[in-house]
Amino acid sequence: MKRLRRALLAITCLLSAMPAMGGGEFALAEVAPGVFVHAGKPLPLDAPGHDDIANIGFIVGSKCVAVIDTGGSLRIGRALRAAIQQRSRLPVCYVIDTHVHVDHVLGNAAFKADKPSFIGSDLLTAALVRSREFFLKQYAADFDAPADAAQIVAPDRSVAPGETLSLDLGERHLQLRAWPKSHTDCDLTVFDDKTRTLWTGDLLFVQRLPALDGSVKGWLGVIDELLKLPAPRHIVPGHGAVGSDLAAMLAPERAYLRMLEQGVRAQIAAGKPMDAAIREVGASEKGTWLLWGETHPHNVARVYQELEWE
Ligand SMILES: [Zn+2]
Repeated sequence: MKRLRRALLAITCLLSAMPAMGGGEFALAEVAPGVFVHAGKPLPLDAPGHDDIANIGFIVGSKCVAVIDTGGSLRIGRALRAAIQQRSRLPVCYVIDTHVHVDHVLGNAAFKADKPSFIGSDLLTAALVRSREFFLKQYAADFDAPADAAQIVAPDRSVAPGETLSLDLGERHLQLRAWPKSHTDCDLTVFDDKTRTLWTGDLLFVQRLPALDGSVKGWLGVIDELLKLPAPRHIVPGHGAVGSDLAAMLAPERAYLRMLEQGVRAQIAAGKPMDAAIREVGASEKGTWLLWGETHPHNVARVYQELEWE
C-alpha cells in the first residue's frame, strides 16, 4: 500500500511538473505586460533544432498584435502563430524582421494568411534575394516541401537606415529603427513605449558568440548609439537571456568586437596572413563564449577583409 501511494505521488509530481518542463509545447515568457518571448536554443546553425535558435516573439496592443521575428522554419513560425492565437483573438497586423538571417525570417510564411504588413530595413529585400539560393539549398527541410522562393517573404514596408517608423498597436506604440551596416547590412531594432522594452535583434548576443556578417567598425558605432538612447527597462537580445541593464549586457560583446578590431589590425600591420590571424587573434577568450569554434574563425576573416585596405 505504501509503495502504491509512493508511486501515485511520483506520477502526480511528474504530471504537475510537465507543463513547466515544456512537454514539447512552445515555451513563451511574458517578460513585460503584453510582451512575449520564445527563447532560442544555444545550438549551431547546422545542428538538429537549428530552426529554433533565435529569440522571437510578439507584442499585444488593444487593436492588434505585432510579431518580431518568426524563427528558422515554417514549423517554428506556425508554432509561434498558434501560441499567439492561444493568448489573443486580435489580428496580427505586423510581422517585423530584425534582419536577414535564416533563424529569424524563415517562419514569415506562416503568417501570410493573416495578411499583415511585413516590415524590415530598406536593405532587407535585397539581402533576402542574395540569400535565396543558399536558404533553399541549405535549409530545404525547413520549408514546406517542395521548398520554393515563394515561401521567403520579403517586406512590403521598410525603414531606411538611420530612420525610425512608429507603429500603433492600440494603447502602445512601437518605434522601429533601422541601423547602418553592423551585424548585417539590414539590422533593425524595436522599442515598445508602453513597457520600455527594446528588441535588439542580433545587434546584441548574450553568451552566444556574436556572429559578424556586416562591419566591425559599424557594429561598434551602433553599440555607442544604442547606449545613448533613453535606457530601456527590458532588453530582448537576438540570442541569450532577456535582461534589464543594456550597458552590462552589451559590455562583453563590445569588448569582443574591440578585441577583434584591434587584434586583426595588429596582425595586418605585422604583415601576417589571414590564416595566422584566425589562429592567433582572441585565442585566450575561447572559453568565455558559446559556439566559439563555429563562429570566431569566420569573424576574424570578415574583419581581416574589412581592415585590409584601410
Ligand atoms: Zn543574425
